[in-house]
Amino acid sequence: MEPHGAHGTAGASPPSGSAVAHGVTSATADGSLAAHSNAEFVDLQTHTTASDGALRPSLVVEAARGAELVAIAITDHDTVDGLAEATEAGEALGVRIVPGVELSTHFDGDELHLLGLHLSDLASMRDALAELREGRVERALRIVDTLNRSGMPVTMESVLREAADGAVGRPHVARAMVAGGWVRDFREAFDKWLGWGRAAYMPKAPFDVADGIALVHRAGGLAVWAHPGDLATPARVARLAEVGLDGVEVLHPSHPPYLSQKLFETVEKAGLLPSGGSDWHGTLEGARRLGGQLVPRAWLDRQDARVQRARVARQAAPAEG
Ligand SMILES: [Zn+2]
Repeated sequence: MEPHGAHGTAGASPPSGSAVAHGVTSATADGSLAAHSNAEFVDLQTHTTASDGALRPSLVVEAARGAELVAIAITDHDTVDGLAEATEAGEALGVRIVPGVELSTHFDGDELHLLGLHLSDLASMRDALAELREGRVERALRIVDTLNRSGMPVTMESVLREAADGAVGRPHVARAMVAGGWVRDFREAFDKWLGWGRAAYMPKAPFDVADGIALVHRAGGLAVWAHPGDLATPARVARLAEVGLDGVEVLHPSHPPYLSQKLFETVEKAGLLPSGGSDWHGTLEGARRLGGQLVPRAWLDRQDARVQRARVARQAAPAEG
């Protein structure tokens, strides 16, 4: 259990000045200029060119330094390939890099994005991600095969080209079908062929959230429910805590302040940890700014303590038999 008294000061509620870009010390909404300029902030969800971000890892770290963040987590979708460059840049610039990943899992028939934070065994995570990717390629192959037998000479090569370096899926098959002129548009590809119950529909083996949590734990990390919105009811959080969920992303650009407050209370009651991040993808447009969520460093400290405890428990386990 997390000590419940640990959240007395920092971040019991999302700071009222969160719309104000961090670093602009002349304008804090709560007027506590001194407190603000002394406070240390982190950002525990960012993306780089290793997945769908616009900036390469070293440039994201530079931006973090510019925003005066003491730590950021790099959490690319389904890959840990950006971490080496980010870590190196972080050491050079004095920004701590929390090694992370964002996984797409399933829970209660919905997609659930799961962050793995504080990963220590990157090799195990990399292997597991490669296996998941193989499953997707295998599914795309079965779809292409079915289309071929239906008189549409779509090639796997063209599908993989559409996917570029990303995880291959039905949208890439659809684009290859459009490019080949076998369907008029994306919509027709799904309506006639790829959608549920259509001729070339193949069910995807769902990646259960419990499996995702186990995978994160195997890699030494903490499993955090990313941007849950209003799905993170106390009942659901309790069920996920039973299968090992460590925390919930409380602060996120998609969460209005009242929701962040509610999530924070749910998380504390469940004995889990709050997390938060900007989900920054490297663009300057839109409302998302690196560090814009003003996630207090104290939250990261609590995560560190939990990682430490888990590590001690794991080391003790074999001796206990
Ligand atoms: Zn996400």
